[in-house]
Amino acid sequence: MSLDVEWALRWVRLSADSIAEARDELTELDRQIGDGDHGANLDRGFAAVRTKVDGLEAENVGDVLKVVATTLMSTVGGASGPLYGTAYLRAAKVTGIPELNAHAVVALLEGALEGITSRGRAEVGEKTMVDAWSPAVDAAEAAAAAGASPAEVLEAALAGAEEGARSTVDLVATKGRASYLGERSRGHLDPGARSTVLLLAAAAEAARG
Ligand code: ADP
Ligand code: MG
Ligand code: MG
Repeated sequence: MSLDVEWALRWVRLSADSIAEARDELTELDRQIGDGDHGANLDRGFAAVRTKVDGLEAENVGDVLKVVATTLMSTVGGASGPLYGTAYLRAAKVTGIPELNAHAVVALLEGALEGITSRGRAEVGEKTMVDAWSPAVDAAEAAAAAGASPAEVLEAALAGAEEGARSTVDLVATKGRASYLGERSRGHLDPGARSTVLLLAAAAEAARG
């Protein structure tokens, strides 16, 4: 299965499905250490994205990612809107090519992480979505260097994100709304790390065809 514009469109639709299905789960996670709106924020955003890409005349993966970026920025709000918006925007800049090879997939993921860190200034260990994205990028880089296919790079990224998201449970938040709780933020999964896993799972699934 090639990682072309059709893949990007499948990724978007599967993301919207998955976020809609996980809306209550994300809400509950954010209720524990935030303000309980992460599920609603992302569901609103990805529902809008789904409508936007319907019938979109996109030439390449980058075109699709740019539409995702601008739509998320204008519909999601909160901390995660600008963060995910910038992630997709930076991801789009490095993928103006018709079909992604393994290194282009890595570049896409690196772009996303770079967007999130340039916007939110969080480092690994601060209990944010960066704790899922960073190991995802590391795992993707390692897989590509070992000769993995583009789809295998996405599977590696997903596994890295899952492990990274799990690691947020034991962390104390020092960025974002959860940081107001201090020590009481420990023992809970970060909502943005969880939504990151869902989005990367959708990317990997779209590549399975
Ligand atoms: P808000 O906190 O404004 O209500 P959301 O609930 O939609 O926004 O998103 C919360 C998520 O955003 C957190 O779980 C965390 O993963 C992420 N987040 C918050 N601040 C930052 C930051 N500075 N850098 C990276 N991610 C962050
Ligand atoms: Mg919130
Ligand atoms: Mg909020």
